[in-house]
Amino acid sequence: MSDSVATLDELISLIREFIQERNWEQYNKPSALAVSAAIEVGELLELFQWKSDNEILEAIETEEFSTALASEIADVMVYLLRICDKAGIDPTKAIIEKMRENSKKYPVEDWKGKAPSKLNRT
Ligand SMILES: [Mg+2]
Repeated sequence: MSDSVATLDELISLIREFIQERNWEQYNKPSALAVSAAIEVGELLELFQWKSDNEILEAIETEEFSTALASEIADVMVYLLRICDKAGIDPTKAIIEKMRENSKKYPVEDWKGKAPSKLNRT
């Protein structure tokens, strides 16, 4: 649905244009972007802090929570896509490759219905 609006390449270009228009390239060092991504993950986690599983399920149904969640997810993804841009990484290829690795690491016949915890790893 959303891919009909913009591809990941188009989003990377949109973010790059936003940065260049403001002459912020000088501040977009990979380490600063990685730190910023981690901070935004913290803000995302803050939405879940101290809530029970049921409270989270109820909150997700509210417009206020889902809007805040979407905003934090976007913050995280913007920084990750910016890191991809700076490092010349194609995020689509990276995700496809990671899912191939995960399929080998967690074959369906061994892992179906099991949580991928460290204790369950073979
Ligand atoms: Mg944020």
